[in-house]
Amino acid sequence: MTARPAVAYLDHAAATPPRPEALEAMAAVEADGFANASGSHRLAREARRAVEEARDLVAGFVGARPSEVVFTSGGTESDNLAVLGTLTERTGALEPVGAVCSAIEHAAVLAPMRAAARGAARLLGVGAVKLTEVGATPEGMIDLDALALALGPDTALVSVMTANNEVGTVQPIDAVAGLVRARAPRALLHTDAVQAAPYLDLAEVVGPCDLIALSAHKLGGPKGVGALVVRAPHRVAPILHGGGQEHERRSGTHNVAGIVGFAAALAALDAEREAEAARVGRLRDAFADAVLASVPDTTESAPRRATLPGHCHLRFARVEQEELLMLLDRGGVYASAGSACASGAVEPSHVLLAMGLDPLEARGGVRFTLGRTTTEAEVLGAVGVVADAVARLRA
Ligand code: PLP
Repeated sequence: MTARPAVAYLDHAAATPPRPEALEAMAAVEADGFANASGSHRLAREARRAVEEARDLVAGFVGARPSEVVFTSGGTESDNLAVLGTLTERTGALEPVGAVCSAIEHAAVLAPMRAAARGAARLLGVGAVKLTEVGATPEGMIDLDALALALGPDTALVSVMTANNEVGTVQPIDAVAGLVRARAPRALLHTDAVQAAPYLDLAEVVGPCDLIALSAHKLGGPKGVGALVVRAPHRVAPILHGGGQEHERRSGTHNVAGIVGFAAALAALDAEREAEAARVGRLRDAFADAVLASVPDTTESAPRRATLPGHCHLRFARVEQEELLMLLDRGGVYASAGSACASGAVEPSHVLLAMGLDPLEARGGVRFTLGRTTTEAEVLGAVGVVADAVARLRA
């Protein structure tokens, strides 16, 4: 296959192009509002005001109070702060407390959970933790029966993502919260809403959660900024120590431009979320239908009615994911293995394994994710490239 010009960027779940509103807001801050928001002079006060206006917007977006929003460096830090910060507050030296998460969480949740369980977070102050990872159904939803069994009076923390980053399934947060409140009344419920934020009405969906993680670059803001919402009266112990910013919850000079860009992206997104979700969903359906019609032995990993509108995870029998991604790249179709950090790795997806697939079945999986800038020409152009690439690998 000869190199072609880019025809389709289908990796919006890894990073979506910044919205013009975010870029404009950030440029204005970089030019005039560059002062340190912790200072006391007029320029510093202006920077602080910009941060507080952004905080109001983020709080409104998830139905929280401004004082409950902690700005961070992104989704990974927000998840780490939720997990380690909660476990530091709620573990002691002796009796282990329970922590529960779905087996399909992003590594930003799984890794700190596992670190805490093997004692590797002791230096931060995390005591003994017994972790249960709850499996998923073949459709990519958390197994609620297994979750019920995992919960108990000693459970301190439960983490279930709002929507999965690989297969796109939207998790039953209401049902999860009901089980947690009934069976683990002392537990805090954390949700990683990083992927869900562009498409779902978070103020409604994550209403019952105590901790909510967001990342700006998944919703049209800049990279390296995000937020953790910590609902009052709950507390998280800091994992970064220093100047005591964010009411001692997250030290470090505020990324004022990033925070302002994050909020500008949220505001723009909020105004068009429903129409955009419908448009992206139609394009996704057209893409999925066309690929399924033109490439035999192809399976959709999760039912569309259960997924975010921009997600299309397909498995191609008798094809190696890395080889396919390479041919797609050469053909100008940019997709991924599922999570940005994992692409290129030979390990089969932990999400597909948790859904009951064997490693061989998981090997031919590719995630195509559409977004705000995706056009019909782009997705239709991509179909031929995908069909050619799969046929070539199977030949
Ligand atoms: N959580 C989920 C569900 C994600 O998809 C990602 C990014 O891929 C992250 C967390 C990490 O976010 P960030 O890239 O802002 O660290």
